[in-house]
Parts: sequence; structure tokens; C-alpha cells
Amino acid sequence: MIEIEHVAKKFGDKEVLRDVNAVIRDGEIFAIIGPSGSGKSTLLRIINLLDRPSGGRVLLDGEDIHAERNQALSYRRKMAMVFQKPAAFNENVYENIAIGLRMRHLPEPAIRQKIEEALEVIGLTGYEKRRAKTLSGGEMQRVALARAIVTEPAVLLMDEPTANLDPVSTAAIEDLVLQINRKFGQTVVISTHDMLQGQRLAHRIGVMMDGVFSQIGTPREVFAMPKNKHVARFIGIEN
Ligand code: ADP
Ligand code: MG
Repeated sequence: MIEIEHVAKKFGDKEVLRDVNAVIRDGEIFAIIGPSGSGKSTLLRIINLLDRPSGGRVLLDGEDIHAERNQALSYRRKMAMVFQKPAAFNENVYENIAIGLRMRHLPEPAIRQKIEEALEVIGLTGYEKRRAKTLSGGEMQRVALARAIVTEPAVLLMDEPTANLDPVSTAAIEDLVLQINRKFGQTVVISTHDMLQGQRLAHRIGVMMDGVFSQIGTPREVFAMPKNKHVARFIGIEN
């Protein structure tokens, strides 16, 4: 369980997150939805320990993840993040997926087996030796997802993972997220500016506006009863 309590983040004088509160339950797909610049990436970076909040705290299973710096590594190992643009990608597919497993000092045969299984899940069996240059954007993002899940993290964080993809590749990633969540029960926190993606994927969504969650609820609840006119306008319901 991830508890976000009064999280604030300032960059200089600019208050990007003001008072963010949410409880993300184990095993749910929670979508952070909001316009560009609303602070979605900032919040994900704070949850993933890539940044620190200037106020408030984030609890993972009851523990404040930013409190003790020496624990950061163990928290980070419970989480994996997929970014909008796949991270630097020089080696072949096998090495890219192996990174997290090598950090955990797994023996090579175990690594090989996990990578084969992950490639099967993402539909890229036999791609071990392929170079990044030869992959499409959608394939790269699937490899990024494989890299994220192969270490079996409790929490999968995804920052607009389909923002650069065409509709077919987007659908493939969405299917994978649903499949992975169903099969492995991972908690998924995904940001998107696409309300419909939130509706397709998420058990619950948080609508981020002006540095707070204006509303948190199931997609059905948010669509049926947007909490205020800003939320209504954002999700495309005039009132
Ligand atoms: P989103 O992901 O919703 O588009 P971001 O979290 O990326 O929003 O950014 C929210 C705001 O914070 C933007 O105005 C952005 O310019 C600003 N911001 C993000 N990171 C930094 C940073 N490291 N330094 C200064 N401003 C930042
Ligand atoms: Mg962003």
C-alpha cells in the first residue's frame, strides 16, 4: 500500500505539488490523470525516490520511504519505473532486460530463463540479440516494460508510457499492463494526460489539478459525477 500524505513540491518559488493525498491499494491500477504540467511526473519521481518532497510524506507499507536515506535502495528494489521515453539503450535486448537481475546477483542460467519468460509475456520471443536501433518505439517500450517486471517489483510506476506511441502500440502496452496486473497482482501507478486511457486501464483514477488531487474515484464515478467544473472540463464533459 502506498500512502501519499500532504505531499508538496516546490521548484524555487514554484509550487508544483501543494497538498497531494491518496491511498493506493495493493494490487490496484491507479491512474494519475491531469493536463500537461500538472505535476504527474513530479509525483511519480517522488514515489520512486528520484526526488524528495518539500513537504509531506510517502509511506510504502507503513514506512516513510524518504525518511532514512540508507533504506532507499531496499525501497527502490520494490519498485520499477517505465518512462515516457525508453531509457538509453546501447546494448542488445537481453542485456537491457538483465540490468536489474544482474544488480541482484542472480546466476546467469536463472537470468536467461527469466528473460525468456519476460520476452514471451511481451510477445518478443527470440529478440534477445536485437539492437535498439532495429526496434520500433512500441517494441522498445515493451522491452522497457519487460525490464521493469522481470525483477518482480511490488509496484510498477509508469510515466505516460504510451505518449510517444501509435494507437496499435498503445493498445499493446495497455493490454500488457492489464495482463501483468491480473497475473502478478502488481500495484500499478500510471500517469497519463489521456482520460480515456485512464478509463480503459484503471481501477481508480486521481485527477491532478493545481497541485492537488481534485478528485479520486473509479472512472465511472469521476465521469458520472465530476467534483467541480474544472474536472468536468478536463474530462470533456461540459457543464
Ligand atoms: P506533468 O508530468 O504533469 O506534465 P511535471 O511534473 O513534469 O508535469 O511538471 C510540473 C511542473 O513542474 C512544470 O511546470 C515543470 O516545468 C515543473 N518542473 C518539473 N521538474 C522541474 C525541475 N526539476 N525544476 C524546475 N521545474 C520543474
Ligand atoms: Mg510528465
